[in-house]
Amino acid sequence: MSKVIVAGGGAAGMMAAVTAALNGHEVILLEKNEKLGKKIYITGKGRCNVTNACDVDGLFKAVLSNPKFLYSAFYGFDNQATMQFFEECGCRLKVERGDRVFPVSDHASDVISALQRKLKELYVDIRLGTEVKALVADQTVKGVVLKNGNTLEADAVIVATGGLSYPTTGSTGDGYRFAKQTGHELVETRPSLVPFETKESWCKDLMGLALKNVTITLKKDGKELFKEFGEMLFTHFGVSGPLVLSASGVYVQKAWKERVQLYIDLKPALTIEQLDKRLLRDFEDNRNKQFKNALAGLFPTRLIPVMIQLSGIDPETKINEITKKQRLDFVQIIKNVPLTVIGCRDFAEAIITKGGVSVKDINPSTMESKKVKNLYFAGEVLDLDAVTGGFNLQIAWSTGYLAGNNIEWL
Ligand SMILES: Cc1cc2nc3c(=O)[nH]c(=O)nc-3n(C[C@H](O)[C@H](O)[C@H](O)COP(=O)(O)OP(=O)(O)OC[C@H]3O[C@@H](n4cnc5c(N)ncnc54)[C@H](O)[C@@H]3O)c2cc1C
Repeated sequence: MSKVIVAGGGAAGMMAAVTAALNGHEVILLEKNEKLGKKIYITGKGRCNVTNACDVDGLFKAVLSNPKFLYSAFYGFDNQATMQFFEECGCRLKVERGDRVFPVSDHASDVISALQRKLKELYVDIRLGTEVKALVADQTVKGVVLKNGNTLEADAVIVATGGLSYPTTGSTGDGYRFAKQTGHELVETRPSLVPFETKESWCKDLMGLALKNVTITLKKDGKELFKEFGEMLFTHFGVSGPLVLSASGVYVQKAWKERVQLYIDLKPALTIEQLDKRLLRDFEDNRNKQFKNALAGLFPTRLIPVMIQLSGIDPETKINEITKKQRLDFVQIIKNVPLTVIGCRDFAEAIITKGGVSVKDINPSTMESKKVKNLYFAGEVLDLDAVTGGFNLQIAWSTGYLAGNNIEWL
């Protein structure tokens, strides 16, 4: 048996602690907050998208940074294993659109309760309000120094302190400091799965307006970076919502800090020709109305002034005076509402941190550091991130499991 310290009581840390305890080790779980899994509470809008029920190939495809590194982690503890684990811990699950897995209760708290029950059943020593300040290590890890100045000795330490996103949940990048102090390389961190700021100020006028069933396309120098169908939201600084968060993962990866074009297709179900026919029909029905009064059937009310402005057509123009060219140009605008992305919001609004402890310094089969013996890393603290859909938590479960399962028996 080894004495194991797990630093961080989030998804990865709790899974690592459970697994190490199941392997017969004496486990101390240190969490600086007054409760475990504070971030899990807010995942999936409070419903916790625990994992994704896709096939294993789908898991790898969803990972944006270092998918190959996750080979042993995913094959050692995949999404099926995650689902089985939670069901066995008394948290019943259901699969929704896009294979997203949620608790049947729709309460993220049930995911945390399941983990807490398991930790208690396995006699894991949970110490809340306990912040790790530094690691005690040379070639081998010896323990941790706490914020109160006390040192806790251990045969192995698992760092699962998360990234930098939503710092109010406790994820303040402490693990990066521990990694750096012990000679590990860090990959530059960036907020990802995060809203976009746009040049166009009209987004502010539409703040709070959600568009369902639209397609957004992200383009850099004419080259398509991202295209997906779904839901988005206007905000006081630009755009957000599920589609935009997904697009940001690709933006942060490929066009960080550059200006890119974002196009919204408001009528993705219609081709240019079909949409033109639809417009002709609408225009025919409203031929004596002014342009500004003829668009109610086409767009949400709040969007109408913006669409009129983008069309360049005088709002007072009678419908029967609109030229064919003006109508065809308007069709193009409806299919490609243009926005200029000038950057992303900060870590405080990011679902995930891209970058972190370099996976080059970590053994992918065990999550053990290649620099310091018996020191392990798991979860978002590592340079791993994926698209939305339950994949980021799956990374935490899989890497946490692998670390907890590979502690040497001393
Ligand atoms: C709003 C939001 C919604 C999300 N929704 C989903 C979703 O539905 N599905 C999904 O797959 N992913 C989702 N994610 C991402 C997911 O939450 C993370 O990928 C996951 O929580 C990472 O787990 P982790 O254990 O590595 O880190 P964290 O969850 O950040 O946990 C780290 C823990 O370590 C503690 N800690 C930090 N430093 C110290 C220290 N020095 N000493 C002691 N303790 C310390 C922290 O307090 C924290 O509890 C969401 C993220 C956000 C912000």
